[in-house]
Amino acid sequence: MLEAKIDTHTHTIASIHAYSTLMENIQIAKKKSLTGLAVTDHAPGLGIGETFPKSYFGNMRKAIPEVVDGLRIIKGVEANVMDHDGNLDLPTSTFEKLDLVIASCHEKVVKPATIKEHDKIWENIAKNPWVDIIGHSGNGNYDFSHEKIIKLFKEYDKIVEINSSSFPYRKNARKNCRDIALLCKKYRVKVTISSDAHFATDIGNFTESLNMLEDIQFPQELIVNRNLDTLLEALPKIKK
Ligand SMILES: [Zn+2]
Ligand SMILES: [Zn+2]
Repeated sequence: MLEAKIDTHTHTIASIHAYSTLMENIQIAKKKSLTGLAVTDHAPGLGIGETFPKSYFGNMRKAIPEVVDGLRIIKGVEANVMDHDGNLDLPTSTFEKLDLVIASCHEKVVKPATIKEHDKIWENIAKNPWVDIIGHSGNGNYDFSHEKIIKLFKEYDKIVEINSSSFPYRKNARKNCRDIALLCKKYRVKVTISSDAHFATDIGNFTESLNMLEDIQFPQELIVNRNLDTLLEALPKIKK
């Protein structure tokens, strides 16, 4: 049975359109027997009044203990891809203060375009040393050349996110995630399973992703968040 013990993509009230505090998320994570929790609120590129400014992200390591109530807290961000060149919305000086960086395309920030443009985004993101995780990769509004780009993620050692909350509402996410996961299996690319929770009760909700990965007999050893040690090992920015 495949499993994941750390949720690597979660939001708090700092994301404005999310509804729980970090402490509430921690309580649910504990209840579900997770061993770690990454807090990854939306970076400021989402728009003024949509999320917190960069000072919120720069202070996390200082303000939040490494372990809270027995749970390892990983301080991260969901950065926004701002344009088709794959530029992100936080400076290096903020990225270097964080443990984990997810890069995601959101419709209100970067306009969906052609497969060629989306390939260019991910080609540049693959080369960005600050990015750890490719956020909700299965979003059908940003279709890309799966085989070519997944091979590039392998070359640059990126982690591909299989985002459970995408399945019901992102265009073609079910089919795309399956297709992407099959390529990750073929080329031995690391993946992470996440909830993308915007409310505490959703923390650790990996059911849809795990079912799909079981279905394609995905190798457990490629799931970086299968336990805390393997996740920390896969995050070069983290101080162990
Ligand atoms: Zn959000
Ligand atoms: Zn997102």
